Amino acid sequence: MEHVIVVGASAAGLTAAEALRREGYAGELTIVGEERHSPYDRPPLSKQILRGAWDKERIVLRSDELLADLNAAWILGTAASALDALGRKVTLADGRVLAYDGLVIATGATPRRLPFGHDLAGVHLLRTLDDTLALRDGLRQARTVAIVGAGFLGAEVAAVARELGLAVTMIDPLPAPMIRQFGAEMGSLLAQLHRGHGVDVRCGIAVSALTGDEGRVTGVELADGSQVPADLVLVAVGATPATGWLAGSGLVIGDGVECDQYCVAAPGVVAAGDVASWDHPGVGRRRLEHRMNATEQATAAAKNLLGQSIPFEPVSYFWTDQYDVKIQVYGRSGDDLDFRIVAGDPADGRFAALYGDGERVTGALAWNLPRQARVLREHVARRTPWSSTETESL
Ligand SMILES: Cc1cc2nc3c(=O)[nH]c(=O)nc-3n(C[C@H](O)[C@H](O)[C@H](O)COP(=O)(O)OP(=O)(O)OC[C@H]3O[C@@H](n4cnc5c(N)ncnc54)[C@H](O)[C@@H]3O)c2cc1C
Repeated sequence: MEHVIVVGASAAGLTAAEALRREGYAGELTIVGEERHSPYDRPPLSKQILRGAWDKERIVLRSDELLADLNAAWILGTAASALDALGRKVTLADGRVLAYDGLVIATGATPRRLPFGHDLAGVHLLRTLDDTLALRDGLRQARTVAIVGAGFLGAEVAAVARELGLAVTMIDPLPAPMIRQFGAEMGSLLAQLHRGHGVDVRCGIAVSALTGDEGRVTGVELADGSQVPADLVLVAVGATPATGWLAGSGLVIGDGVECDQYCVAAPGVVAAGDVASWDHPGVGRRRLEHRMNATEQATAAAKNLLGQSIPFEPVSYFWTDQYDVKIQVYGRSGDDLDFRIVAGDPADGRFAALYGDGERVTGALAWNLPRQARVLREHVARRTPWSSTETESL
């Protein structure tokens, strides 16, 4: 292999490039990224950066020296606009066409928008460092904030906005925050957490419009006709894999770039991170928007691009920080699974729980119990029979 192109210069793209070099790839390496910034870490955006606790230098993923050691050509501030997977060519937005014999797709995900309201000043999305700095400035000037979407991003921003002393309303059509990720019991604990910190949690109702005056947002209208005044609105209604540039490429695009169990999308093409959907040998088709997965999958994808054949079958890991609560999750959680608290007590603000599909343990969750999370991870890895979690000491 003589020329590998990595498209997407963030967690997954950088890790893939490093893994290629570590595995002995000595050929030409080109890294293409739409953002003008050097690779940086996204999880602190909705936490330390938004709160103003860290400055932006702190989230840079590698020093200039380490980036230089990669001996790669960096094309930043330029998107890839098309791929010809058969002819092995990537076209860039500035018209350049680059030939490759190996390609890593690591273009992440793009925030979903509402079908209305985004032309109003004061309406924000959150994905990039630039989005975060704009939101941080907005929060400094705002008094009332409406957050559309009570997923992990909406919930984290609600927590920061309350810490900044703002009046916060969080709205979601589902019955409780993060219910899709964590299920009903956890959803109601999260609603309690946010209400306890003064957030007006409005779940089970959709937003029907954003209202404005002279081009500036003034609030949110709900499906029952009620109004929530707000001088800042964050739309946090999920993200979709960034695959627009792959239309007509010859790759199979479903919920992300569809890959086999080796993260291979086509001969000479692998995908990793938020953009990749792959066939997990134990679990079936999955696409994860988790920071740890970006690193692990990019490493596996890079090795497989170089000719190894290692199935990618991680125990996935995800965390979220809200107020003084850290929630950590290994494996599969969700509202379609059984849920059982196995240690601690929610009333004490520390507990751990397991998720199961009726037969086996699929996931483990810890709420301010990090050590327990690591212990319970073993039950996820071993797929412990669900029935034995009722009787055995965990
Ligand atoms: C605010 C925020 C907070 C988060 N907090 C957590 C957390 O607490 N815990 C957790 O586990 N995960 C968290 N995540 C998720 C985690 O950050 C992602 O899973 C991770 O960043 C995925 O890495 P990636 O490299 O696949 O994609 P990304 O980080 O999205 O990077 C993709 C890069 O590709 C670029 N790109 C897109 N299209 C093109 C193109 N056509 N050409 C060239 N470049 C392109 C993008 O501009 C971007 O720089 C958070 C995400 C966000 C946004």
